[in-house]
Amino acid sequence: MATNYVFCPNCHTQNTNLNAACIRCGAMLPISPMPMQPAGNYGMTMKPPGADKKIAAGICGIVLGGLGIHKFVLGYTNEGVIMLAIYLVGMFFCGIPSLAIAIIGIIEGITYLTKSDEEFVMTYIHNKKSWF
Ligand SMILES: [Zn+2]
Repeated sequence: MATNYVFCPNCHTQNTNLNAACIRCGAMLPISPMPMQPAGNYGMTMKPPGADKKIAAGICGIVLGGLGIHKFVLGYTNEGVIMLAIYLVGMFFCGIPSLAIAIIGIIEGITYLTKSDEEFVMTYIHNKKSWF
């Protein structure tokens, strides 16, 4: 059972979120913030934080891979700039580097989409895996 502490707005006594009213003065307590707890029965419908980026990053990788947009979506600014730079400079080399970086983007996009939400969040949000 997760217990959060809330402070009475009236007398500042520390109460637990198990109490609806202050144990000291009886004032109504504000609704406590959601405690960090496993999603439990809602696990099937509630996505872990960051999972919403999976689809966006995956599609951006596949459609706009060479531009590094999917890197920006994930907050990997440096990697995004590198991809974009290679893509643009590649134009001066018959577009071959651009093609290569676009293919990397497609592979990365597919990699994102084939992972489960939990796996995606663990790999790219928590561990900050930059490439693939
Ligand atoms: Zn109170």
